[in-house]
Amino acid sequence: MFIVVIGSGLSGTVASSLLRHAGYRVNLFETRTHVAGNCFDKRDDNFVVHAYGPHLFHTNDQEVWNFLSESTEWTGYQHLVLADTPQGRIPIPYNSQTECWLGRRYRDQEIRDLIFKDYSQKQWGIPWEQMPAAITGRVPMRRENEDMRYFTDKYQGQPKDGYTAMFERMLEGIPVHLGVGKDEWRKHAAKADLVIYTGKIDEYFNYCYGRLPYRSLRFEHQRSRERLPVAVINQCNTLPYTRMYDHRYFSEESAIGAPPLPEGEETIITKEYPMAHDETNEPFYPMPFGEGQALYQKYKKLADGEKKTIFIGRLATYSYLDMWMAVKQAMVKLRPIVGRGPFV
Ligand code: UDP
Repeated sequence: MFIVVIGSGLSGTVASSLLRHAGYRVNLFETRTHVAGNCFDKRDDNFVVHAYGPHLFHTNDQEVWNFLSESTEWTGYQHLVLADTPQGRIPIPYNSQTECWLGRRYRDQEIRDLIFKDYSQKQWGIPWEQMPAAITGRVPMRRENEDMRYFTDKYQGQPKDGYTAMFERMLEGIPVHLGVGKDEWRKHAAKADLVIYTGKIDEYFNYCYGRLPYRSLRFEHQRSRERLPVAVINQCNTLPYTRMYDHRYFSEESAIGAPPLPEGEETIITKEYPMAHDETNEPFYPMPFGEGQALYQKYKKLADGEKKTIFIGRLATYSYLDMWMAVKQAMVKLRPIVGRGPFV
């Protein structure tokens, strides 16, 4: 059986790797000129720059962790985030230390207004009143202990040599075709016995029902001698960007309190501006609620009728998947073909 995988992001790369290890002939096609999708990072002196926004790995899923650990060692990085709010700079998610910084216990409604309202309106481009629970429920509202970590998962860390290196190891032995035009991969897909598609589902069907809404991002990178006090600072206010981050932390063991840089060295600090997706930018976040969800259901019906194609990943299943969820989804959807494998 000859299998064509479209897209070398996390879903496409995991799928390719699982299929190859199960003995299938796999070819991977990618429209960008590099692998790793939005996890792509590149080395700058002695740290890696996350070219498409910060990627922080965390999971409670043993199978996912075991599988990725075949292709990388991990640092002990545990993510921390501070937020700039009208009440000053505070640790989030809201925990008992936040309470100390704020000077009193905040009610749920106050936390919502302080941490979520402005940020979410910027991020999603919709008024707070229309924000679906799928988004508001993603970040824990309140933590009744002093744990300041952004994630509490059992397994956390960053790939020791960066994400791109981890992807390259997963793809060893698989023919990878980069910079492939959209019409070109369609020709290869037509010749395959099975296609694993990880691109935009609306694009697969030539936008026959119209374009699905996605949020995009614009990055403003700046070289700096000054470090941020913590890896990421969210902007829970009306400034036009949602967060700023210091890339050097992502290659270090601690997300807080970096010492001054040695003479002649710099970090890169990025500000992230959310915006609507169109033909001129990349789709980052699907919007699977309201009209977006209704439109996706129409495309999903078409996808269910495609007997030779399996749709996986954020863009092809139009869902807000974290990294571990994308890995798990690929494992589960390919299980009928590749079996359970040795990672459980
Ligand atoms: N969010 C927020 N304020 C914050 C952090 C998150 O309102 O300081 C909301 C916002 O709607 C965001 C969602 O929670 O889109 C998910 O946040 P997360 O940090 O998981 O975003 P990601 O890293 O996936 O961009």
